[in-house]
Amino acid sequence: MIPETSYDIIVVGAGPAGSTAALYAARNGASVLLIDKKQEVGNPIQCAGFLPDASEVGALLPAAELPETLKNYPDSCVLRKVSTQRIIPPSGNVKEFPVKGAVLDRRRYDQFLAEQAALAGAELMVKTKVRSIENTTIETSGAFGKHRIRAKAIIGADGPNSLVAKAKGLTWKPGSKETSVALEYQVRNVDIDPDALEMYFGKEFVPGGYAWIFPEGEDRANVGVGLRTGMAEKGVSARDYLHRFMREHPLAAPRLKNAVVMNVIAGILPVNGAPEKTATVDSLIVGDAAGHIIATNGGGIPPAMIAGKIAGETASEFIRGKGRLEAYDLRWRAQMGAALETSVQARQLMDGLMKSDTLMNAAFRIITPEQMKVMQCGKMPAPVRLGLQALNRKNKN
Ligand SMILES: Cc1cc2nc3c(=O)[nH]c(=O)nc-3n(C[C@H](O)[C@H](O)[C@H](O)COP(=O)(O)OP(=O)(O)OC[C@H]3O[C@@H](n4cnc5c(N)ncnc54)[C@H](O)[C@@H]3O)c2cc1C
Repeated sequence: MIPETSYDIIVVGAGPAGSTAALYAARNGASVLLIDKKQEVGNPIQCAGFLPDASEVGALLPAAELPETLKNYPDSCVLRKVSTQRIIPPSGNVKEFPVKGAVLDRRRYDQFLAEQAALAGAELMVKTKVRSIENTTIETSGAFGKHRIRAKAIIGADGPNSLVAKAKGLTWKPGSKETSVALEYQVRNVDIDPDALEMYFGKEFVPGGYAWIFPEGEDRANVGVGLRTGMAEKGVSARDYLHRFMREHPLAAPRLKNAVVMNVIAGILPVNGAPEKTATVDSLIVGDAAGHIIATNGGGIPPAMIAGKIAGETASEFIRGKGRLEAYDLRWRAQMGAALETSVQARQLMDGLMKSDTLMNAAFRIITPEQMKVMQCGKMPAPVRLGLQALNRKNKN
C-alpha cells in the first residue's frame, strides 16, 4: 500500500491503544494513517492476555468511558474464560476472589482492533517503521518503501520505548522511569486450574513482582514472571527466575513438570505512572508510551484502550478546529488518572515489603480478598494503606 503524502492524523503503533485511537478518530471523520513496524499486527505477542470483563473494569473505574471493542469482541479472540483469581503468598496461604474475564489470544484481538479501525476508514500500513519525526512530518521505511508523510496531529501509541514521546519531549524526568521485565512461556501438557488466574509472590522466585499461571485451555497455560531487575539477585536473569519457579516452586512445580514450551514471550512494562505531560500542541501519547498501566499487576490493555478512545476523539475534534490537543491530558486523567497514581503508590509500598517474605506474608494477612480485588484496578482501601505503611516503617527500624 502506498500512502498519501498527507493525513489529518498519523497513529504510530497498532496495539490496543493505537487501533482504538484510530477507530475513534476515523469514525469522527478524520483521515487517519495507522502504522506498525510488525509484519503482522499482534505478532509477535508481548502479553499474557488477561482482560477483565467490561463489567469489572466499569465497576472499578466508574468515571471511565469504555470503548465498545473492550465490551464486545468475537469469541475467536478468547482462549479461555476465567471466574477466579487466586493469590499465593510465600506462605502458601492461598486467598481467592471471583473475577469475570478472559485470557485472550492477543494476536487475534489486536487484529480485530486494527480491523475495526480500518472498517471505520483508517488506512493501515504494516511492516513499516517510523524512523524519525520532525514537527508533524514522519519518515518511514519498510515493506512499502521509504516515505515522508505529513499530518496535522501525531498520536504516539508506540509502546514503552516510544519514539513519539522522545521526539516530542513527553518523557519521564531523567532517571525516574521505572520498568518491570516480563518473560513468559506458552505451555501445553500442564496440570492447571483452567478456570483460575494464579499469581504467586515470593522473593526467591520473583523479586519485586509476581509469577503467574494463566489458563489458555484445559491443559494449556501462559506461565511467566514479571520482576524489577533492580531487586533481582546479582547475575540472576528473568529466565533463571522463570525456570526456578517452574522447577522448584512447592505448589506450582509439580503441576508444571511436564510442560512443553510452545512459545517464548518477553517484554517490558512501565510501572511508574504517566509522565507529567502527555500532549503537545500537535502530538499526544497513549498506552504504554504514556505509562497507562496498573502498576500493581501490569494490566495495560484496559487503560490503553480507555485512553485510546479519548486520544482519537480529542485529535479528531482538534482537526475540526474544536479545541486543543492538550485537552487530552486533562480528559484521560479525569477518567482514570487517580487509579493509575494509586496503583503506583501501592506498587511502591509493596516494593518495600517484597524484600522480605516474612513481611510479604504479613501484608497478605492484612489484605482481605475483597480488598485485593479492588487493588487490581488502582484502588487502595484506607486500612490497607495504613497497614502497609506500618509494615514498611517496621521494616526500616
Ligand atoms: C509479558 C507481558 C505480559 C503482559 N500481560 C498483560 C495482561 O495479561 N493483561 C494486560 O492487560 N496487560 C498485560 N501486559 C501489558 C500490555 O501488553 C500492554 O500494556 C499493552 O499491550 C499496551 O498497549 P499499547 O497499544 O500501548 O502498546 P503495544 O501493544 O506495545 O503496541 C505498540 C505497537 O507500536 C509498534 N511500534 C513501536 N515503535 C514503532 C515504530 N517506530 N514504528 C512503527 N510501529 C512501532 C509496535 O510494533 C507495537 O505493535 C503485559 C505486558 C507484557 C510485556
